[in-house]
Amino acid sequence: MQNISVLGATGSIGRSTIDVLNRHPELFSVYALTANSNIELLLQQALLCSPKYVVIADPKQFKRAKKIFSDHPLTCEVLSGHNALEQVASAPEVDIVMAAIVGAAGLLPTLAAVKAGKKVLLANKESLVMSGDLFIQAANLHNAKILPIDSEHNAIFQCLPADFKYGELCSSGISKILLTGSGGPFLSSPLSELHHVTPDQACAHPNWDMGRKISVDSATMMNKGLEFIEAKWLFGLESSDIQVVLHPQSIIHSMVQYLDGSVLAQMGNPDMRTPIAHALAFPDRIESGVAPLDFNQLANFTFTEPEAERYPNLILAMQASSAGQYATTTLNAANEVAVNAFLQGQIGFLQIAQVNQECLQQTSSHNLDSIEAVLESDNSARRLSMNIIGNLNQSCMQRVSS
Ligand code: NAD
Ligand code: MG
Repeated sequence: MQNISVLGATGSIGRSTIDVLNRHPELFSVYALTANSNIELLLQQALLCSPKYVVIADPKQFKRAKKIFSDHPLTCEVLSGHNALEQVASAPEVDIVMAAIVGAAGLLPTLAAVKAGKKVLLANKESLVMSGDLFIQAANLHNAKILPIDSEHNAIFQCLPADFKYGELCSSGISKILLTGSGGPFLSSPLSELHHVTPDQACAHPNWDMGRKISVDSATMMNKGLEFIEAKWLFGLESSDIQVVLHPQSIIHSMVQYLDGSVLAQMGNPDMRTPIAHALAFPDRIESGVAPLDFNQLANFTFTEPEAERYPNLILAMQASSAGQYATTTLNAANEVAVNAFLQGQIGFLQIAQVNQECLQQTSSHNLDSIEAVLESDNSARRLSMNIIGNLNQSCMQRVSS
């Protein structure tokens, strides 16, 4: 029996994780569930999973959460605040941590799990994008096992040789990593129509059902850009080792090409319960609830190259990855602010890339040799992006009034 803390339990990945856990009560026991502010869903999940702790990260919700939980027949303790997230991620009783908080908020709790030497199921790609080298060093130092949840990285992990050594492609007989992406909902929309895109249209992904931030990132392909950076850190790759391939059907989740011409692909229906079940049980296999592929229904596997003009965020992320840690941290923060502004109706869809680009251009190279430096860099990029958004809106108002 393994004890698990699910960080971000009320999100899309968190809900899928609970679904898989509940199929295997003999294998997993839930130690903690965390949410930012959705007390009602957290309560339903707690009634189902009987955790020892629940954490409501937003301290303003603590009183209400305590009251609501005390009205139900539950023995779990209700905690609040960001220290509590780190506490349940690193507690000695915990074997596995699902890191599924969205965005930079996931960095410190995920790192706490890494530093406590846990088996970390990494969905929160942003933490690796922000702190890459420091994150990998901490995992090595503290003997943490990082298992990728992102479907592409989980697919790559499954297609690599079992004895693959970090960064050693050539001696493993590998020539390339093929990172696939669907291209999102605007793959074939006329470019001239993209500035009209609404948040709901951007969040309507053709194949995957995800949280709103990652859905917008999929539409701009910033998600693939973050995944490009994530893949470099997870497997020790150079930029030239990775090729991004558009595969709109989302059945192949990524591939590894070998020197002899073989290409190994991992396939499955687009449902995150597959990588979650794989990582939970690794190296065993358990049932996930995902329907098997029906090859009589599959047709038209297609593959194309992403157009640079349609996906400027993908190009920005690749450039940031070459520029270094300060640039990927800056881009990640700018993008979070810009996506949030887009979801709030403050900027247009195409302005997300504009904010990201301006923020990167206005940030000079600096060294990030500690988590404090990463957080400082993240904060200043957020302030800068908010100013850029303020200026964009001001010049827009001036144009309207003149
Ligand atoms: P989501 O928005 O559906 O859920 C996010 C979770 O994080 C929620 O439980 C929320 O309460 C919590 N949270 C948000 N802000 C917080 C804060 N400030 N402090 C503490 N908790 C906070 O997101 P999601 O789609 O489940 O994605 C989660 C992570 O997994 C992201 O990093 C995303 O990139 C990654 N991921 C998601 C998918 C997917 O299919 N959804 C696929 C691959 C990777
Ligand atoms: Mg992915």
